[in-house]
This record gives sequence, C-alpha cells and structure tokens, in this order.
Amino acid sequence: MSTAGQVIRCKAAVAWEAGKPLSVEEIEVAPPQKNEVRVKIHFTSLCHTDVYFWEAKGQNPLFPRILGHEAGGVVESVGEGVMDVEPGDHVLPIFTGECKECPHCLSEASNMCDLLRINTERGGMLHDGQTRFSKDGKPIYHFLGTSTFSEYTVVHVGQVAKINPEAPLDKVCVLSCGMSTGFGATVNVAKPKKGGSVAVFGLGAVGLAAAEGARVCEASRIIGIDLNPNRFEEAKKFGCTEFVNPKDHNKPVQEVISEMTGGGVDCSIECTGSTQAMVSAFECVHDGWGVAVLVGVPSRDDSFKTHPIHFLNERTLRGTFFGNYKPLSDIPGVVEKYMKRELELDKFITHSVPFLDINKAFEYMLRGEGLRCMIRMDA
Ligand code: NAD
Ligand code: ZN
Repeated sequence: MSTAGQVIRCKAAVAWEAGKPLSVEEIEVAPPQKNEVRVKIHFTSLCHTDVYFWEAKGQNPLFPRILGHEAGGVVESVGEGVMDVEPGDHVLPIFTGECKECPHCLSEASNMCDLLRINTERGGMLHDGQTRFSKDGKPIYHFLGTSTFSEYTVVHVGQVAKINPEAPLDKVCVLSCGMSTGFGATVNVAKPKKGGSVAVFGLGAVGLAAAEGARVCEASRIIGIDLNPNRFEEAKKFGCTEFVNPKDHNKPVQEVISEMTGGGVDCSIECTGSTQAMVSAFECVHDGWGVAVLVGVPSRDDSFKTHPIHFLNERTLRGTFFGNYKPLSDIPGVVEKYMKRELELDKFITHSVPFLDINKAFEYMLRGEGLRCMIRMDA
C-alpha cells in the first residue's frame, strides 16, 4: 500500500527542551510539498553539531525540535516538481544543499549555495516556512532541513544526494556529514603535499577523517592534538604519527608544535569548535606557506584574537563547510571511493544502538567515548 500523499504516523526522537533526554514517541509527518522529498531513514548517527543545538548553550534555543543530520535512507515519495529522485532511490540527506542555479552552485570554488546553505536557525521548510512534523496537531521544528532522528523525514530535493543503491547505508551514512567534512577539509582545502607535515586539532570523528585525508595525501608527519588523552590510541589507526596534549605543556601548544617541526607545520586542520584551538591551529603553521583550515563550529558569541603579523608573514587562514564538497554533485563520487576501498569508513563506527536507545549515543559523545554511534531505526 502506497503512503504517498498521506500523513505518516511514525516514531521520532523529539527534543522537547534544551539538554533533556530525547523522547521517542509517535508523531505525524505530512507529505512532501513542492521540491521536497519524504525519506524513510534507515540509519542515522550522532555528530557533535546535534549535541550543541540540543544543549543550546550559546545557540538560539528552538524547541520542540527533531535533530539529526547524518543519515542514510530511501525515498518514500516526492512532491511536486521533483525530477532528480524517485521513490526507492537510496539517498544521503545533507545539511547544506545545492540548487545548481545560484552563483555559488555555478562556481567551481564554492559549495555555499545561496538557497540551501546551512541554516541553523530555520525551523520550517523553505517552501512555506511551515513544519512537516507535528504531534497532536502541534508543530515540531526541523533542524538543518534534515531532522533525521525520525523514521520518516521531509527534506528539500536539493539536500538529498542520490547514491549507489549497493552502498551499505549503515556505513556510508557517515559521509553525509562528519567524514566528508574532515576528509574534504584536508584533501580539498588544506591540500598537503606528499611528504608534508599536518597538524590536526581535535581527534573526534571529524578530526580523524581529516587525518585520514592527510594519510591519503601521503603526508609524512600527522600530529594529533587533543585535550582528551583517550583519543590518542585510537588515532594511531588513522595515520597520526605523533600526539600533543596541550595540558601537558606550560606554553601555548602552537609553540610546542613550532619547536617539534622546526618552524611550524605545512598545514593544520582545526576540528574542535574551540576558539583557543582555532588560534593555535593558525599560529602553528609555518610562515611563508602554511595553511590553516577551520572546521569546528563555534558558539554564537565567540570571537578570537591573533596578531596581524601572522598573516603578514604569509600564513593563510581558511574555513570550510562540509569539506568544500558540493553535496549533490560530489558525494556520490565519495561513496564510490568507499566502494572501491580507497577510503575507509568502518573504523569510524565504534558504537551502535537501536533507535529507542538514542540517548545512549548522546552519552557516549558527552563522555568523549568512541567516534560515531550508528543508530538503527528498525531495531
Ligand atoms: P567530537 O566532540 O567528537 O571531537 C572534538 C574533539 O576536540 C574532542 O576529542 C575534544 O576533546 C577535542 N577538543 C576540544 N577542545 C579542544 C582544544 N582546545 N584543543 C584540542 N582538542 C580539543 O566532535 P566531532 O563530531 O568530531 O566534530 C568536531 C567539530 O566539527 C565540531 O565543532 C562540529 O560541530 C564541527 N563540524 C563542522 C562541520 C563543518 O562543515 N564545518 C561539519 C561537521 C562538524
Ligand atoms: Zn545554489
């Protein structure tokens, strides 16, 4: 029996209040409207960005909301005007989209689509500003246009990457955010040369994906920096050759790295969200050619200070969303890289829980345990 055009009642994990455990309950999901698709989520995983917006510390709180943005699923039905996907297609919903028409989408350099770039404040759909989720008629807000902590979700067609149906969704799911972000930050933005030195700040899943990128680029030294020493053992599997814990030193970590490398690393990738780490990541690159790339998401009121001389001395500071990948055009190709074993993903998935235990995934992340926790929707 087709559910197209009907309201679907299904389970979703609703965040009713900042910092309160999610509550898995039955909600209603309206049919997709113009340029929207309804997707049955099979697997979703937890990224730190979900946790920030759930905690709502330094963010504008918007509740009740369905979080989640790293996922894999299958299209259930499509709304008016949707040509690029059809029911049955395997897709990765992505927090930043591609309209394929705006100046950014037409530029080779950018993935910051004017229409569909990440918008953390928006709680409704672009088409009419309304939500497609409700509970007893009361609206529940969307998150990043993806809201994957639901058995069914509605997403703009410009935010779903159609992928090879043979690809295992419980693995390639992590390419819809964290792994592509970290890997792309290195291979597309920092671009270390073969034999170069790379510093990675923050050895969570995103930072380790950045290290994986450095390994694939054949960097000779990959220095991992984290405040949590439990991260170091795991990071060896991702090509990190040396480790620095800023807490072990009584001088700024950028000075420690500069001494270790005779003047600084060729490039650094910051994957923490801490402004202190951002400054260190910039100041630890070599003068004359060093490139630092910011990936971590700061709090709303954050700012940082660095002396302009670091720029005058020919250091470059860049930032990137989603590793500079164009979500619809590039991600199917990254999935193929995994299929051809040119990129490893399995080692990022350290935990797995049934949907009903989704709060355990939050506990693991808050304790800094493991990398990605796969949430199985049908279990
Ligand atoms: P995570 O919490 O798993 O990992 C972050 C790591 O950084 C932790 O191990 C923590 O101990 C370490 N850390 C924190 N402060 C530090 C400091 N001052 N110095 C050194 N290490 C420090 O998070 P994650 O899921 O890997 O995400 C990392 C960051 O990337 C987050 O800020 C997340 O919001 C961001 N992110 C950005 C994008 C993007 O497109 N730019 C996409 C996804 C995630
Ligand atoms: Zn666009």
